[in-house]
Amino acid sequence: MAKDTSPQCKQCRREGVKLFLKGERCLTDKCSVERRSYPPGEHGRGRIKQSEYLLQLREKQKARRYYQVLEKQFHEYYVEATRKSGITGENLLRLLELRLDNVVYRLGFGASRRQARQLVCHAHFRVNGKKVDIPSYQVRPDDVVALKPGSKAAEAVRSSTDLTSSVAPWLLADHDNLTGKILRFPEREEIDAPVQEQLIVELYSK
Ligand code: SF4
Repeated sequence: MAKDTSPQCKQCRREGVKLFLKGERCLTDKCSVERRSYPPGEHGRGRIKQSEYLLQLREKQKARRYYQVLEKQFHEYYVEATRKSGITGENLLRLLELRLDNVVYRLGFGASRRQARQLVCHAHFRVNGKKVDIPSYQVRPDDVVALKPGSKAAEAVRSSTDLTSSVAPWLLADHDNLTGKILRFPEREEIDAPVQEQLIVELYSK
């Protein structure tokens, strides 16, 4: 499976915001955004000429990196979002939120989206009792996500739950039994993503 291999902290510094890509480290004062709050590279501290296009592009890159999705797949989500009724930007974020790897992360079962994706790829989770090892799998209301009985990842998953202070209101997590349920589709205000989705829609609709 293709993945973005660029250094994660550099991705956050490029976008100028904490994207929480590294799990526990992101919660400490070792976070690179907190220590060096300017873009990486030789010209990081220089002045960058802002333009409407650059703002839109950066917003798209930020969303892609936040959800750890490659360009082609991200664009496919946008196309799917345009086909749905409602506001395209909100549809886009909802599609990204409903990815199984994101849900595992939001439930607190992965310290980062990358770890959650790895757990899903290695088939440590079941959806409604069935094996699902596809990170982009779209969950639906009433689906139950649970750690596979006897999974060797149980200890790591329990450690991740210790880092979780709260769970999104559209999800119900049972950290004792390592199971979670999707209560409903998330509303925009319930999606804790540092993204202005309208800018992404403007970029793609040019
Ligand atoms: Fe981003 Fe986490 Fe690195 Fe901070 S520690 S820059 S939030 S990946």
